[in-house]
Amino acid sequence: MYVTFFGAVREVTGSMHMIVKGSDRILLDCGMFQGRRKESEQKNRVLPFDPRIVTNALLSHAHIDHSGRIPVLTRDGFTGRVLCTRATADACEYLLLDSAHIQESDAAYLNYKAVRSVLQKIKTSPRTRKVTQRGAREIKALLKKKRNELNVETIDHLVEELHIDGVEPLYTVLEAQQSLSYFDGHPYRSPVTIGRDMTCTFYEAGHILGSAISLVKAVENGQTYNVLYSGDLGRFNKPIVRDPCLDFGEADRDVDLMILESTYGNRQHGPVQDIRSLLKQALNETLERGGSMVIPAFAFGRTQELLYVLHELHDRKEIPNVPVYVDSPLASKLTRVFGEHPEVYDSDTHETFLERGENPFHFKGVRFIGSVEESMALNRETKPHVVIAASGMCEAGRVLHHLRYKIHNPRNTILIVGYMAENTLGRRIVEQSRIFEAAGRTGHPPLLKFLGKEYPLLARVVELDGFSAHGDKDELLRVLKESNLNIKKIAVVHGEENQSLSFAETLGREGYSAFVPHGGETVSLG
Ligand SMILES: [Zn+2]
Repeated sequence: MYVTFFGAVREVTGSMHMIVKGSDRILLDCGMFQGRRKESEQKNRVLPFDPRIVTNALLSHAHIDHSGRIPVLTRDGFTGRVLCTRATADACEYLLLDSAHIQESDAAYLNYKAVRSVLQKIKTSPRTRKVTQRGAREIKALLKKKRNELNVETIDHLVEELHIDGVEPLYTVLEAQQSLSYFDGHPYRSPVTIGRDMTCTFYEAGHILGSAISLVKAVENGQTYNVLYSGDLGRFNKPIVRDPCLDFGEADRDVDLMILESTYGNRQHGPVQDIRSLLKQALNETLERGGSMVIPAFAFGRTQELLYVLHELHDRKEIPNVPVYVDSPLASKLTRVFGEHPEVYDSDTHETFLERGENPFHFKGVRFIGSVEESMALNRETKPHVVIAASGMCEAGRVLHHLRYKIHNPRNTILIVGYMAENTLGRRIVEQSRIFEAAGRTGHPPLLKFLGKEYPLLARVVELDGFSAHGDKDELLRVLKESNLNIKKIAVVHGEENQSLSFAETLGREGYSAFVPHGGETVSLG
C-alpha cells in the first residue's frame, strides 16, 4: 500500500493525493490550481493519471482548490463515487456550477479578444495604420450582443473559420452538472466502505461548513493501516461550525501516516474573541461618520460568518438598525445550504439562535440582492448601509462596483476580513492604505486602478484577521497534541514551501517524524 502526493505540495492550491492498495486507487481531493493564469491553466488541463484507474474519490470540503477538477475527472472516464459529507455535496452543487460558469466566460472572453484582433487587422486602414471607425463599429456589432454581452455563437464560429488557436473552457456548465451525480454524501463519524477492506470515516475539520478530516482504514496482508488526511483545518472557537475534532474513535487513533495542511505553519492569527468587538467598533465608527461599509467576502463561509456576527450584535443592540445587503447570488444560494445543515453547527449556534427558532443568517435589515438591476440601484444608495459582496480578493464581481462608488469617500469603510493574495486589488487596497495612514492621511491619496479607471483611496480600510478559516501554527499543533491521536509519520502539504518546511521543522522539535513531500513523490506503508 502506498500514497502519492500529486498536488498542493510545496504550494497551497490544487490539493490531490492518491492511496493505492491492490486494485483500489482512492483519490483524496481533486482540486484546482489557482494563481498565475498560464501556469495553473496548464496544470489544470491534464490529470497526472488516467481517471479511469481511480476507483473512488474522497472530498475533504467544497472549496474549489480541493474540488475544482472533479468535473474533469468525471468527464474523462472516472466511474466511482465522490464521497464527502452531506453539506459538502450540497455546497458543491453551487460552487462547481459557478466554477464552470467562470471557465466558460473566461474562455469566451479570450476567444473574443483573439477574433477581434484578427478582424481589426483586416479592417485596418493602410494609410493611418489604425482600425477604421466603421470597421470598429462593425466588429463590435458582430461580436457583442449588448454592451457587456458577448455573442458567443458567432465568436466560436469565427474561431473555427479564421483558424484561430481558440481556448476551450476547462469544463462546461453541462459537464459540471453531470459530475454532481457522482457525489455521495455521508454523516460525520460513520464509516463508509470505499474499497476492498477499506473504509473511510469523516471527522469535523472546523474549516468550513461540511469540511472533514478523513480517516482511511485499510487492511493489507492481515495488517491494518490508518491514513489520516486533514483536508483544511479551521480555527477553534469560531462561530457556526464546530471546532476541529480532537476526539477520534478508538480504532482510528493509531495513525500510520497523517497528511497535514500547513497554510499558516509559521504564522499566528489574532484571537477569535476579538471579531465581535472589532466589527462592532468599525461599524459604529463608520455610521457615526455617516458612511457605509463595504465588505469584500467569499460567498461560501465568510459571508455567513459575517451575517452571524452582525445578527448577534443586532440582537444585543450593540449596533444600530442599519440595512445589511448581501449582494451575491452565489452567496445567497450558499446561505440556504447553511440553513439546511443545522446538524453540523456548534453548540453556541444552537443556544444563541436555533433553540429560539431563529435563522442565524437572517435578521431584520438583511436583504439578499439577486438581479443586476437591483445591484446597480444599490451602488447608488446614499443612506448608510453595510454591503457584503464577492469576490473576496476584489478581483472580479459586484464588489468592484460598490468600491467604485464608495472608495473615494472618507466617511466610508472598506472592511478586510480575508487573506488578500499578491497581485490582487484587495492586496493593493490594504498596502496603499497602510502607507497613507502611516503618513497621517496627508498629501495625495493613493490612486487605485480598476474597472478601467483610477480612483482615490480615501475610505478607511480596517483589517480584521480573526475571520481566517485556517488554523495558525498553534492551532495546528493543538490538533496534534490535544487530540487522542498517536501519529507515526506526518507528510506536510498545502502550504507555500517556506511555511511547510518551517512547520515540518517545528514538528520535528515537538518529537514528530515529519517530512515535506515533493510533487509526484510516493511513500510506502508496509
Ligand atoms: Zn479550504
